[in-house]
Amino acid sequence: MEPFIEKYRFNYIKKRVFEVSSAITSSLDKNVVIASRAHNQDKIYGVFSQLSDEQKELLSIDRIIDTVSADQFLKKLEPFVLGISIPTNDTVARLFKKHKKIRIPDSFSEDVKRVYLGWIDGGTRKLMMIYEIDRKPFGMACRLPQVKSSSVNVCSLCHNIGSDEEVAFVSPVCKTEHLGPDAYKSIGFYLCLDSDACNERITSIDKLEDLFRKVNNII
Ligand SMILES: [Zn+2]
Repeated sequence: MEPFIEKYRFNYIKKRVFEVSSAITSSLDKNVVIASRAHNQDKIYGVFSQLSDEQKELLSIDRIIDTVSADQFLKKLEPFVLGISIPTNDTVARLFKKHKKIRIPDSFSEDVKRVYLGWIDGGTRKLMMIYEIDRKPFGMACRLPQVKSSSVNVCSLCHNIGSDEEVAFVSPVCKTEHLGPDAYKSIGFYLCLDSDACNERITSIDKLEDLFRKVNNII
């Protein structure tokens, strides 16, 4: 069986499995557990437009009876999870033409599945992001806030809630062709500064894709 579970879908399945195992550990009523299992099984199958029998079997949560079997279930899915490919440094240089010497951290490996690549570049103090649309990589360089506020923020991608230190208001610069080749418009949104943690929580790519399309002028 080939990998078929996109990372954000895997995160969603993880959430559903967590719900089932909490129902098992916290409920004495057998019917509550049965209902939770059925409800979450539907939701898990529901994220895929079609599944083969083999894939259905792999995603069956029937055998989850406690937290240990829940972990085992998720471990079994891992070889079938799809993540973004790590581009070469030449590709990275092309994606961030306006920035010099941007390199992907050496620690990034495809063994760790990610929805998007994100890291803070020490030289420019920007949060660099790479995401694939139709299997093509696109880049986004985000300015980090200069001043800290005491507000509590929500990440637009994973809905994690945190202070400015954790979830900051970042602003990518994007070209707006209809205003002329040299015009840039600025947009901004809240984002986790720890991209790896954010990658573990994202369950939908709608907002991410929308932002990348806007910034890169993709229709
Ligand atoms: Zn996040």
